[in-house]
Amino acid sequence: MQTGTATTMDKALTRALIETVSRRVIDHADELTALDQAIGDGDHGLNMKRGFEAVLVDLDIHAAKPLPEALKAVGMALVMKVGGASGPLYGTLFLTLGKTLPSQPGRDDLVAGFAAAIDAVKARGKSEVGQKTMLDVLAPTQVAIAEGRDPAAAAAEASEATIPMKALRGRASFLGDRSIGHMDPGARSSALIIAAITEVLGRQP
Ligand code: ADP
Ligand code: MG
Repeated sequence: MQTGTATTMDKALTRALIETVSRRVIDHADELTALDQAIGDGDHGLNMKRGFEAVLVDLDIHAAKPLPEALKAVGMALVMKVGGASGPLYGTLFLTLGKTLPSQPGRDDLVAGFAAAIDAVKARGKSEVGQKTMLDVLAPTQVAIAEGRDPAAAAAEASEATIPMKALRGRASFLGDRSIGHMDPGARSSALIIAAITEVLGRQP
């Protein structure tokens, strides 16, 4: 992701990406739940865990597909299993990545594909950057990739930056000013996903 050279996507790498992302989210379910208990309804960890457990059930099937098809299959599983506001949004993110990325993406492809996926999430959520949602991690991360900076570091920093923000979308927006002072759960799950992807791609020979 940081090299600018085309990534050689083979089945082992596709498998490692899907498996690492899924396990990372599942392993952090309690943390995501705690964040959602503070400013939402406390289901984000369980929602995401349910979705990525469903992804892992079909890991062999997903990993046998070319990257675009694998991403679409993951997106469909998330749409069907995660639920809540985040299910359709993460589903849209992965489905759009599947529709826009080629089988062997280089950095320019990732930049363009990620931009298209973020636009699709904005359209689905009727939301914008600055409203204390997952978009506040996804958008700065896309910029970091475009500028050749470390996506995981950008995502971690961006998730921290949601703490002082006031939520203007999703359940947390019902709290108004009381949403200030807590990290957005979807921002945290996005940062976890991006860290996992960055680690796997960084292990590339
Ligand atoms: P719910 O809010 O329905 O309980 P989750 O708890 O699973 O769903 O997900 C909450 C997260 O979804 C929020 O932390 C936020 O990041 C994200 N989110 C909610 N609504 C929107 C929206 N309209 N646009 C973008 N992201 C959103
Ligand atoms: Mg919730």
